[in-house]
Amino acid sequence: MTQVSVQRAGTTKSVPDEEREKTEILNRYRGLLRSIRGERTQEETRAIRKAFNIAVEAHKGQRRKSGEPYIYHPIAVARICAEEIGLGGTSVVCALLHDTVEDTDLTLEDVRDLFGPNVANIIDGLTKISGLQFTSDSAQAENFRKVLLTLAQDVRVILIKLADRLHNMRTLEGMVRDKQLKIASETQFLYAPMAHRLGLYSIKTELEDLALKFKEPVIYEEISSKLKKTEAVRKRFISRFTLPIRRSMEHEGFTFEVKGRPKSIHSIYNKMLTKNVTFEEVYDVFAIRIIIDGESDNEKADCWKVYSIVTDHYQPNPDRLRDWISIPKVNGYESLHTTVMSPGGKWVEVQIRTRRMDDIAEMGLAAHYRYKESAEQNTALDDWMSQVREVLEDPSSNAIDFVNDFKLNLFSDEIVVFTPRGEMRNLPSNATALDFAFDIHSQVGRQCIGAKVNHKLVPLSQPLRSGDQIEVITSKKQQPKEDWLNYVVTAKARQKIKAALKEQKKKLAVVGREAMQRKLRELGAKVDDRNITLLTEHFKANTSTDLYYNIARGRTHVDGLDGTLVRNGRLVFPKKASQENDRSLEDIVGEIRGNDAQALVIGETLQQLEYKLSSCCNPIPGDDVFGFITNNEGIKIHRVNCPNAVQLMSNFAIRIVKARWKGKDTVEFLAGIRFSGIDAVGLVNKITSIISHQHNVNMRSISFESNDGIFEGKVMAFVHDTDHLNSLMEKLRRVNGVRMVERLGT
Ligand code: MN
Repeated sequence: MTQVSVQRAGTTKSVPDEEREKTEILNRYRGLLRSIRGERTQEETRAIRKAFNIAVEAHKGQRRKSGEPYIYHPIAVARICAEEIGLGGTSVVCALLHDTVEDTDLTLEDVRDLFGPNVANIIDGLTKISGLQFTSDSAQAENFRKVLLTLAQDVRVILIKLADRLHNMRTLEGMVRDKQLKIASETQFLYAPMAHRLGLYSIKTELEDLALKFKEPVIYEEISSKLKKTEAVRKRFISRFTLPIRRSMEHEGFTFEVKGRPKSIHSIYNKMLTKNVTFEEVYDVFAIRIIIDGESDNEKADCWKVYSIVTDHYQPNPDRLRDWISIPKVNGYESLHTTVMSPGGKWVEVQIRTRRMDDIAEMGLAAHYRYKESAEQNTALDDWMSQVREVLEDPSSNAIDFVNDFKLNLFSDEIVVFTPRGEMRNLPSNATALDFAFDIHSQVGRQCIGAKVNHKLVPLSQPLRSGDQIEVITSKKQQPKEDWLNYVVTAKARQKIKAALKEQKKKLAVVGREAMQRKLRELGAKVDDRNITLLTEHFKANTSTDLYYNIARGRTHVDGLDGTLVRNGRLVFPKKASQENDRSLEDIVGEIRGNDAQALVIGETLQQLEYKLSSCCNPIPGDDVFGFITNNEGIKIHRVNCPNAVQLMSNFAIRIVKARWKGKDTVEFLAGIRFSGIDAVGLVNKITSIISHQHNVNMRSISFESNDGIFEGKVMAFVHDTDHLNSLMEKLRRVNGVRMVERLGT
């Protein structure tokens, strides 16, 4: 008897109570309907009911890993869409249907017939997205890109996907361990940043916390239990801290809410890791939020009024004032942040915003995003979407690069900068002037030769800061350079530069190859692979394409081959000549100086003595000079304004001797000039010709270093005296693009 009853109990348990489940499904459905905000048209209500019925039917008999009816999941996802993201009827319909095409007999065609093309397109995007894994595998990256194309057409695809992911994370308990890890990692890697980028702060935070919970359960539990233990202390502090503020605000007639939430578990853990501190050192770091209720015509003024109240009571840190109200973030975030000193000597961040701003901050701009056919006003989210679309539609971009670039943009914070006319542009932090140029227009980017930030000339690589005003300087002759890739951070700039470089290289390689073939024929050598290989080695190029490219760029000169031995059509190179040693300019100066050392007379009696010109200030005739008797190098001549002179003259007055130039001499002296400016095509040529032809100066050496579009050059040239040198420098200053000219060793 006992056995029978056990048997019966077991049987009853394993067959779910269908009636009870039906009631529960309906209850959850009603809860979903209640959670949808705002007015609903009859048509929408009908569509939602239809979607619900179809989903129930399609998922009939399916169960989740936890044993619950599968339909609980789409209902929950739909509810997150409505309640936590603030989406409307169409999204609720799509959320209810989101797993049908993938997991049931329902086809996309069925959905299109039943609900029209809009819903079908969203379901299509959702179905594709769910099949993806976000690793660095190229086929999957390509898939990801395709889906993002869909996303760019309708942002609801990604929003519903986020709701789906959030519910899966909330119910991850039932999964096996390796599935948990995979889903949690994906969430951390892609969905949390995406939620952040779209301004869904609370979803982002929850996703991060849940990911940590499953990836690092021990740490998660530890932090979460410590947070619970310290809750009372925190509450007491917040209540004491906010008391005077609350009183003043009530006095001013504000209705408001004050929240003081601790940081998320994930962010506490992150801080502990990155700053290498203990829980005790970070747990009490939190922000106090003041939310102003009620309708207001002037939200901005209200927020600043509250700011004034807060700072009446507590001393603010002027460096930590953030005004996201005048300039909202790209994802729509608006808030006024200040950090003030609490009586206990601790900095406390206070966030001031209206209820509307708080809604956007919690649920994202998506909550307020309208999906009408007509062209809407350009919201910041639109801008972001159109950027994503632009990158996606670029056929030259490679899928893996794209994913990486996209991730880059997802993770980065942003800055706000201005055009010369005061137009605002949002860029990721660490964006450079070059990123800015490409952000304005790809043409502007490609022809960018320099930029003025706040009216000052800066290298293209200089990271911009919020509030900078940037003027881009362009030249029609400019072309994108390879090193540009080292200092752009935006996906758009990277794509455009890479595409342009590829194009350039292709064109140039053809030109270079032709020049090479011409030269081979001229030398009577065969144009064949063997000779090309010999040449590639001879010119130390990695590949023949690189060689052609270098020839076309003028880095490698085919004329250098004149006189090369050719035997039976084969090039014969002599044994490698020993390399010219790389001596510094100073060495060369020193050597040459030593040769004509008789231009000075030294001492009271103006004797002809052996002397050396010092290398620290490079004196030339015309300079005010003095001699210094050294311990073991004889007399050294310094300029009076030499940086070392003051010290020498004050400490060793007794070893100073007079020195004077013997008047105009035919001897030429080597002098160095350093100059810098904006790198432009043909500039080296211009400078060289000024020095050698126009001024009749004999140039010893010239070196150029181009860095981020700013060049620095050094010229060593023979001059007669300071007058000669000065007039040469004056001419150089007048060259277009040259910004600074100075004598070496001043
Ligand atoms: Mn799902």
